[in-house]
Amino acid sequence: MKQLVIAIDGYSSCGKSTTAKAVAAALHYAYVDTGAMYRAVTLYLLEHHISFEDLAGVEQALHTLQISFRRNRRTGRNEVFLDGANREDDIRQMVISNSVSEVSVIPMVRHAMVAQQQRMGRKRGVVMDGRDIGTTVFPDAEVKVFMTADVVVRAERRQVELAQNGEQVALDDIIENLRKRDHLDSTRTESPLRRAADAVLLDTTHLVIEEQVDFVLERVSAALFTPQA
Ligand code: C5P
Repeated sequence: MKQLVIAIDGYSSCGKSTTAKAVAAALHYAYVDTGAMYRAVTLYLLEHHISFEDLAGVEQALHTLQISFRRNRRTGRNEVFLDGANREDDIRQMVISNSVSEVSVIPMVRHAMVAQQQRMGRKRGVVMDGRDIGTTVFPDAEVKVFMTADVVVRAERRQVELAQNGEQVALDDIIENLRKRDHLDSTRTESPLRRAADAVLLDTTHLVIEEQVDFVLERVSAALFTPQA
């Protein structure tokens, strides 16, 4: 069977990762959470006290740091490793969410992450979620979905995730963080968050995960079984 690239882009906390993971599992595809990579770079810069404005320092960091994903056999989760250490929980903290969009705007950070993402997907058979997968990383992806949802619904979902990770955060703080990230992500010059012309829109405000997954799988079937003109 033909191996596809499935690009799932959209605003923060719309359920992209949960949907992408389930789609990857159903198809036995690899899954790459590209947001985790920008979060890992942010964690590295903060821990090494490298200012986001210190471009020589950022460049040096990009040459040094190693980001990889490993599957946790117990939970089945794909977890992010930075320099060989599991940092999955650390990258999800609010302190990272509050800075990540200032890091992901830096062109040399984007170039390094996009190049690694393209290497990870070069054999295809991959589901990748992020902000610029369908526009920049894999503009030739066979399936492109652009996800959106009401900001309050997104914040409520994020609040539950943070609580599961042991962090209690007020809803207003999460809403502010999501709005700020959406704005920074959409207005940056280098590969901004935007819907690719050929991406199909999916509003998840009133959907449950199963419906989101079915929606994407239907697009996959269409891409696999519709005869090309
Ligand atoms: O998906 P997640 O919310 O974890 O992404 C964190 C941040 O990483 C986003 O707000 C955005 O600034 C950045 N990002 C990006 N391009 C991607 C994925 C994430 O700029 N492909």
